[in-house]
Amino acid sequence: MDTASKPEQQSDQKSVVVAGAGIIGLATAWRLVRRGWQVTVLDAEPVSGASYAAAGMLAPVSEVVWDQPTLYPLMITSGEMYAEFAQAVAKESGENVGYLDSETFVCAGDAADRQTLTDLMSLQHQMGMEVRRITASAARRAEPALGPGCVGAVEIPGDHQIDPRLFTAALLKILGEQVVRARVSEVLYDGDRAIGLRDTEGNDYLADEVLLAAGLNTGDISGLPNTLELPLRPVYGDVIRMNVPQRLQPLVTRTIRGIVQGRPVYIVPRADGSIVLGATSREDSMSGVSAEGVHQLLRDAYRLVPGILDCEITELTTRARPGSPDDVPMIGRVAPHLTVSTGYFRHGILLAAVGSLIGADVVCDNDVDQDIATAVDPWRFSDARPRVQLRD
Ligand SMILES: Cc1cc2nc3c(=O)[nH]c(=O)nc-3n(C[C@H](O)[C@H](O)[C@H](O)COP(=O)(O)OP(=O)(O)OC[C@H]3O[C@@H](n4cnc5c(N)ncnc54)[C@H](O)[C@@H]3O)c2cc1C
Repeated sequence: MDTASKPEQQSDQKSVVVAGAGIIGLATAWRLVRRGWQVTVLDAEPVSGASYAAAGMLAPVSEVVWDQPTLYPLMITSGEMYAEFAQAVAKESGENVGYLDSETFVCAGDAADRQTLTDLMSLQHQMGMEVRRITASAARRAEPALGPGCVGAVEIPGDHQIDPRLFTAALLKILGEQVVRARVSEVLYDGDRAIGLRDTEGNDYLADEVLLAAGLNTGDISGLPNTLELPLRPVYGDVIRMNVPQRLQPLVTRTIRGIVQGRPVYIVPRADGSIVLGATSREDSMSGVSAEGVHQLLRDAYRLVPGILDCEITELTTRARPGSPDDVPMIGRVAPHLTVSTGYFRHGILLAAVGSLIGADVVCDNDVDQDIATAVDPWRFSDARPRVQLRD
């Protein structure tokens, strides 16, 4: 697979207009700029969706759950691509993007949680992933802030992190005036062929190719084919950002994930000494911060790392993950010259490395590996396939 270290092959100045400046729209646009494309990205509020809330765990191993055979290869490939992807954006922007390759501990809050970790570890080992069981006391020696509520742990060397706010800020800096503040209302066509986007003010942006990467709202843009089903659903996550007092620095030195009475929780330490505590998973209709969610996160994190309660809360954020029915993104052509890239659900920061590459390849009409193209096919939830030819 092509990587991100050097500017990619030039094309004959083709143009693309992109709806959505989350991590997916921005990273795909960045790749297309590197291929010589003329790019316009439209978003009334860049990086205001899920990418704004995300902790940025790059966790192909600890996020493994049963029965997601098409998702894992994508997660693993994207994890392998990340160091180079992050480095290329850091170099081109001249900014720190907050990529840290420190490892992850996953801690159990009680005996039943320890059994869950054991079961998961057998799946991770079956898949050839590197996971080591460590005793609670060994975990505490490495991370003295872990309290007696941690009764067992596993160590995952391959799960890293990036700071999505720094990373997307770097992409915005590179793209500069190519990102335009506008909300897209519809896709413009000439016959069957997509030729651009119209914004809510009635301005038209014409281009050779159109890419819809508006996260959860992608399906709300008018002009998608009638027969296309994009079953995106909001899965809300509450996140707490905290400053650690000087006397407790560093509270933890690696990402601490936990399972506490069956509930997941994580504490992600940033290089600036702050921490991100997350995340709930709610499919209710409350788009603001849930009091119950905040209570649950503080209670479960406190069980593993009691020093959490000595920290200062600086931000409470809630955003919706763009969920797809099988947790796998939807990337591909849906009409001639019209591509979608959405449905990245709970792994969009991790999957941005490979998802942006697939999206850019589809836009360029390059061949994509058949198994990958089938896994991410945006038509897989639709009864009818398009009747027109999608590629030139
Ligand atoms: C609480 C939480 C924690 C998470 N933690 C992690 C994690 O640790 N690791 C990980 O890999 N993933 C994580 N995720 C998932 C990840 O954040 C998402 O999968 C990813 O950000 C999706 O990116 P996106 O660009 O598709 O969508 P978004 O980031 O939602 O961006 C969509 C953009 O489209 C714009 N938009 C919407 N409608 C329009 C329109 N009509 N016209 C123009 N623009 C429009 C919005 O303004 C927005 O900027 C987390 C998500 C949440 C909510």
